[in-house]
Amino acid sequence: MGSEHVNGSFDSIASAAGWLHLSELDPSNFGNISVLHRKSSCTAPALERFDVPGDQTELIDSLLFITRAGSTMKEVMERPLLNIGAYRIEQGSSMSLIYGVGPPSSEIAAHLEIYKALLLDEISILHFHDDPLLERISSISDPPDWIRMIPELLPGSLELAKTSAEEASSSRLLVWRGHGLTVISESIEDAIIMVERAMAI
Ligand SMILES: [Zn+2]
Repeated sequence: MGSEHVNGSFDSIASAAGWLHLSELDPSNFGNISVLHRKSSCTAPALERFDVPGDQTELIDSLLFITRAGSTMKEVMERPLLNIGAYRIEQGSSMSLIYGVGPPSSEIAAHLEIYKALLLDEISILHFHDDPLLERISSISDPPDWIRMIPELLPGSLELAKTSAEEASSSRLLVWRGHGLTVISESIEDAIIMVERAMAI
């Protein structure tokens, strides 16, 4: 994978973070964004290794870009190289940071489980916490097919991750009750369009 591709993913994540921040959809200032490229054949040396939950055998050699744990959307927008990491997924449920800064978001389990459930070459996930939008969508009694409600589960848990992955194959906007919204798409640009669709409901 060339540096252009790497820079492109950093730019996409930074611009989505900027869009969330400037749209005032990050009132609690957190959230996380990732992009996965399958089978990257990237051989860059590891800067640091991180263990991740669950079995990631199906994702080995994929390249994951994900925002750093604790980064605000404003920080990701303003200083992407210090708030996003590029990781190669490896044997033994671990990831090697090859560019940027870690550790990965505390909701890494959900990102990885959703990626495993979808057989796409490139996928993006955008997760954010906007209480008014969350409340409004949570209260829809008969949501359209592309929106699915997920019960209140412990943030960062494998249970939340696996429950989300089960729904991700048939629906692209997951409402994590009492927590936030998770959008899954083939590109970050499409994920933003889906958030705009949700805002218009
Ligand atoms: Zn969250």
